[in-house]
Amino acid sequence: MSLITEARSGIVTEEMRIVARQEDVSDEFVRRGVAEGRIVIPVSPYRDVKICGIGEGLRTKVNASIGTSSDINDVEMEIEKARQAERAGADTLMELSTGGDFTEIRRRVIEATTLSVGSVPLYQAFIEAARKDGAVVHMKEDDLFRVTAEQAQLGTNFMAIHTGINFETVKRLRNQGRHCGLVSRGGAFMTAWMLHNEKENPLYSEFDYLLEIMKEHEVTLSMGNGMRAGAVHDATDRAAIQELLINAELADKAHAEGVQTIVEGPGHIPIDEIETNVVLMKRVTNRKPFYMLGPLVTDIAPGYDDRVAAIGAAISSSYGADFICYVTPAEHLALPTAEEVYEGVISSRIAAHAGDMIKLKKTRESDLEMGHARRDLDWERQFRVALNPARAKQIRAERMPEDTDACTMCGDYCAIKIVNRHFSF
Ligand code: SF4
Repeated sequence: MSLITEARSGIVTEEMRIVARQEDVSDEFVRRGVAEGRIVIPVSPYRDVKICGIGEGLRTKVNASIGTSSDINDVEMEIEKARQAERAGADTLMELSTGGDFTEIRRRVIEATTLSVGSVPLYQAFIEAARKDGAVVHMKEDDLFRVTAEQAQLGTNFMAIHTGINFETVKRLRNQGRHCGLVSRGGAFMTAWMLHNEKENPLYSEFDYLLEIMKEHEVTLSMGNGMRAGAVHDATDRAAIQELLINAELADKAHAEGVQTIVEGPGHIPIDEIETNVVLMKRVTNRKPFYMLGPLVTDIAPGYDDRVAAIGAAISSSYGADFICYVTPAEHLALPTAEEVYEGVISSRIAAHAGDMIKLKKTRESDLEMGHARRDLDWERQFRVALNPARAKQIRAERMPEDTDACTMCGDYCAIKIVNRHFSF
């Protein structure tokens, strides 16, 4: 029985109980959320993981994506990135290697983490075809499903699968045009394959078969966003909306079949279109968990895209996005280092918390405590509440004031200290 089937039968599983405890909600709240498709808990029959619930009424979760490329292919570096992502507090990890022996790399990364791991199986199918037959357009349809099952058996908990790209989507992409084309690797591979072979996307046309594999291996289906805009001027266009509508319909079908389902959203969106994207997505998918990739709210800050995405992620989370994919400072420039992975996760966690303060009011308690700790100049308490205590401690220790009550920002003229001498709040 899948988690959905159990939830529908009124059974509260151990996983649901863990999520309820983590989130300070009732077991019944989680059970009903899973039964109705508003909450997913990625699991795997092949591996025990740190349980993580994603969806309505739960804290916004942060994913860190790592993986080799054809240029930088160092498995030890990827394992270190997985460790840094976990250390920084990521909730899930996507292993997206496209260089080297990606099956072996994925196996080793999965072994090195306790987090739920996601993958994009079509990368493997297309890249194996390119290596063997000279181009991604020679990918064989059966290989797409074979690698999906193989990756599931490695203990992958969720998979981004590009189900929403069909000929109608591609027609809308072509008719409307774009400033920055396609930036999703999965979207690009699949579109090129369909046009070259004049065949429908097998993940769309053989969706029932895909669901059988998902069910057999208990994988959570994350409906991939192959048409996401790669520039704010392309946001919310016809191709993206077309893909969303297809994914929404297929997500209902997957849920009815007992497959836990997440729907992925865009990429680059100006601030004034974020609310529209979240509300539309939640409405048309019947409130399925929404996985937002950033979004990046401007295109002109390479080197700082973790912060650019954090602005978008905070806003999207405040409107109801449930799951955000981090972005590192190296985005659009290079494969990230382990340090950049760490920075990206921290930026996204700040964004998730800022969004949750609006979405889930109870998460404001830690801000209240920090306010009181600052008023009392209680530094140890400030460090305890801090999202990243080590960083806060390090900065203070490097520039300690003579008067250790205050800090070197205002020194003798510490506003808090001056006022505290005259009355207490
Ligand atoms: S010195 Fe200034 S910044 Fe530092 S605690 Fe006092 S008021 Fe705050």
